[in-house]
Amino acid sequence: FDLSGRVAVVTGAGQGIGLACAEALCEAGAHVVLTDISTERSEAGRAALAAKGYSAEADVIDIGDSASVNAVADRLASAGRAADILVANAGIAQAGVPGEDLSDADWERMININLNGAFRSCRAFGKHMLAKGKGSIVTIGSMSGTIVNRPQQQVHYNAAKAGVHHMTRSFAAEWATRGVRVNSVAPTYIDTPLLTFAKEDKPMYEQWLDMTPMHRLGHPDEIAAIVLFLASDASSLMTGSIVTADAGYTCW
Ligand code: NAD
Repeated sequence: FDLSGRVAVVTGAGQGIGLACAEALCEAGAHVVLTDISTERSEAGRAALAAKGYSAEADVIDIGDSASVNAVADRLASAGRAADILVANAGIAQAGVPGEDLSDADWERMININLNGAFRSCRAFGKHMLAKGKGSIVTIGSMSGTIVNRPQQQVHYNAAKAGVHHMTRSFAAEWATRGVRVNSVAPTYIDTPLLTFAKEDKPMYEQWLDMTPMHRLGHPDEIAAIVLFLASDASSLMTGSIVTADAGYTCW
């Protein structure tokens, strides 16, 4: 893949899947803007990539706040460097709360970050892509946006990710003739800090593995490889696709 000359923005790029995506995009020649709610994390990610000789900068975006998202999108555009690629990756997790006990606050926080945050990101960066008539957006959904994974109790997370999938298809259809493609990757369990809670719960972790045909977690690089393909012109016929990468989990 050759992404030289392209500007790519990744949200939640300070660690995990986002950082792996940032590195893959850099390797393909893009200039990558690593954004995160945490200044320390985005700056550490930038420094790690710069140390490898890649072209990267760090910025702060809280996807829970439209002004924060718009500010970076608009600043890049007014400097003549509007994003060509967006990876709408940032997200949070919470599991183990029975649906009947989910508080309004937990529900609203999850929807506000994982669904509304992805929407804010697509809207802000997509607007400038439409103005250029070219762009590729990749959202990070989840297999739990398609199936209800056991034994977690996370009605709000699953609902938010299902929303991300359908939002992706909806943007894709609206923008299909205007040069902007929008696709999603729906991963299985990926070995990132997000899963720390699960690894501490040995019976649940073992159950996950037993339910996964490949009997393993995914690695962030395995998601980044798909994101890179979707971000590049190699996937030029694809828009509105939800690409499952689940080690076979949804086969059973
Ligand atoms: P992670 O917790 O390792 O990293 C998430 C990053 O997002 C962190 O750097 C964090 O600071 C940042 N972040 C959190 N809230 C933010 C906000 N409001 N604004 C901007 N940045 C924020 O998570 P991960 O495992 O790399 O997950 C990345 C994405 O992949 C998420 O959308 C997650 O739902 C999705 N996903 C993860 C898994 C998994 O098993 N790890 C599986 C399927 C989907």
